[in-house]
Amino acid sequence: MPPADPPPPRPPSPGDGPRAADYLTRAFRLRCPECGRHPIFVPARSVRSLYDWFTPLDGCPECGYAYEREQGYFLLATWVVNYGLVAGGGLAAGLLLQSLTTMSTTRIVLILIAIMPLLSLALVRHAKAAFLAIDHYIDPHVKPPPPSA
Ligand SMILES: [Zn+2]
Repeated sequence: MPPADPPPPRPPSPGDGPRAADYLTRAFRLRCPECGRHPIFVPARSVRSLYDWFTPLDGCPECGYAYEREQGYFLLATWVVNYGLVAGGGLAAGLLLQSLTTMSTTRIVLILIAIMPLLSLALVRHAKAAFLAIDHYIDPHVKPPPPSA
């Protein structure tokens, strides 16, 4: 019996494109969600102020993707992703420390109060990049071309 021919390649459809995992990988690397080639923020070694650290660049020089769509665009990223992760992680760490150690609650709270703002500062860029990637996946700037009839 001769081997069956492979099915012919199907033409690209509007649904084809990067998957959610691709967008999240680009966000983890702090790269443009559309092309994945250019950074969203000033590189860490070039940061000179907190403004540089917190503020995304205007957009991607290669694909033209605008990182901040409107004023306050990253508010949800800051409050939900960053503060949610830090507060949830702090609560989990506090409960874990309380159940596994003999430290007093006051001491645990003081330790966490010292660590959580630093963790929040460290995660803010990734929170914004993840929010950007999720938003781009759900509502892409660059719409796929309409299917030809
Ligand atoms: Zn790009």
